[in-house]
Amino acid sequence: MAEHEHVRVAVVGSGFGGLGAAVRLRREGVTDFVVLERADSVGGTWRDNSYPGCACDVPSHLYSFSFAPNPDWPRAFSGQPHIRAYLEHVTDLFGLRPHIRFGSEVKRMTWNGELLRWDIETSRGTLSADLVVSATGPLSEPRIPDIPGLDSFPGKVFHSARWDHDYDLRGKRVAVVGTGASAVQIVPAIQPEVGRLTLFQRTPPWVMPRVDRAIGGAERWLYRRLPVTARVRRGLLWGIRELQVQAFTKHPEELGFVERLARRNLARAVEDPALRAKLTPDYRIGCKRILLSNTYYPALAQPNVDVVAGGLAEVRGSTLVGADGSEAEADAIVFGTGFHVTDMPIAERVVGADGRTLAEAWKDGMEALRGASAAGFPNWLSIIGPNTGLGNSSMILMIESQLNYLADFLRRLDALGGRAALDARPAAVRAWNRRVQERMKRTVWNTGGCTSWYLDANGRNTTIWPGTTSEFRRATRRVDPAEYEVLRAPARGNASPQKAAEVGA
Ligand SMILES: Cc1cc2nc3c(=O)[nH]c(=O)nc-3n(C[C@H](O)[C@H](O)[C@H](O)COP(=O)(O)OP(=O)(O)OC[C@H]3O[C@@H](n4cnc5c(N)ncnc54)[C@H](O)[C@@H]3O)c2cc1C
Repeated sequence: MAEHEHVRVAVVGSGFGGLGAAVRLRREGVTDFVVLERADSVGGTWRDNSYPGCACDVPSHLYSFSFAPNPDWPRAFSGQPHIRAYLEHVTDLFGLRPHIRFGSEVKRMTWNGELLRWDIETSRGTLSADLVVSATGPLSEPRIPDIPGLDSFPGKVFHSARWDHDYDLRGKRVAVVGTGASAVQIVPAIQPEVGRLTLFQRTPPWVMPRVDRAIGGAERWLYRRLPVTARVRRGLLWGIRELQVQAFTKHPEELGFVERLARRNLARAVEDPALRAKLTPDYRIGCKRILLSNTYYPALAQPNVDVVAGGLAEVRGSTLVGADGSEAEADAIVFGTGFHVTDMPIAERVVGADGRTLAEAWKDGMEALRGASAAGFPNWLSIIGPNTGLGNSSMILMIESQLNYLADFLRRLDALGGRAALDARPAAVRAWNRRVQERMKRTVWNTGGCTSWYLDANGRNTTIWPGTTSEFRRATRRVDPAEYEVLRAPARGNASPQKAAEVGA
């Protein structure tokens, strides 16, 4: 019989979050860990989203790890192939490959209260771990809305995050559904080659100019030879975004100025007043993610493009029916309709101390302590968990803060010695989330008059962090022992784990 495999830490996912965790574990001297990845390569978001025009919308010098600067970013906002190559490079640079198990989809993780460990079932077998780091990504499971009649569509259908590169769009009648960050990049990239493009828009986004540029050889040389210059650039990019946070979180009325700039951006590109009216949002800028593009509006003004306001209501064979009653024939439908965010699919697969899944524990909305741990799910930490998202800056900053928390969590476990686990106290989780939701009340995401994927089915914002990245850095620097209960392995013959009063006990 094969021997049971046990590791100190199991990391799930190999995007920025999982790879960052792996680097941090090695730096903390932990080598007994695995990274479980369902796909066959690293990269997460940047492996799965290969649609035409895919690029980051936070400058690359900030949208990268602080511990792995890349002086060779080719553009201010680099494209998907370069970001994916960067993550492959990070994997090799830090010697992570031996830890990664590709093709290992986590099917179930069950807390074993007797042995104080996670029993993990994967598509490649089982193992157990003292600690799980769940880095399965907030934007990793594509969401296709339930459109009546979609099954009857005879043409090609795919999601932006599962682009079918074998399908030739040239000359075809293509429908793009959705107007989020992906659609805004896809539309201008495919418009010149398709025969007809129909954009089904439920809500128009606010679009600002993208101040992109190629980074020349001399500048890259400087970053390579004098790394401090790249650090200064990163610092400036970060600082500007930190200064914007107050307007998003406390004074949404100040965003009126930005709204005027965005209106001007629209007016410059779209002359037709009817089209301009369709493309003008009726909510406060910032309520949904502000999108950056110099090519989206000009593409929509082209003669081979139609914009259907109100979105896609029904599909009848190859005829797509808009909510406004208009009809369009299509050969292919591309869904740029986002991801399962507030109903995180991994939650269905995590079974906690009382036998409930995380999805059941979160049936009224996601809730975690400092974006990381959930009560009743001991030794389980999430990277980019609830309320860690950003409206205007780099998620890598938040990931690195969570890695600090992970490192301290491990140190605390080590200090406890023996078999022990840390379980977030329900009162601490509640108190943290009360504070987060209290701060959320004034933010543009809650008051701006829009419906967005930041809000869950109950209208609660469980995705965004209502503060600066430095505030989050401070809040996650250390584990607060008072916020956790210590579980000890039960004495022989006693099935339930003993609880010690304090982490330091
Ligand atoms: C098109 C696009 C553009 C974006 N641009 C920006 C940007 O400019 N700036 C920004 O800050 N953020 C951006 N984001 C957000 C982005 O998701 C995060 O910045 C970051 O990449 C998330 O990293 P992650 O490791 O948490 O998740 P992911 O990159 O999604 O990685 C999760 C990994 O977990 C794996 N996985 C999931 N479930 C399982 C399972 N059950 N078993 C095993 N493996 C599993 C997945 O295969 C995947 O590899 C963008 C997102 C998208 C989709």
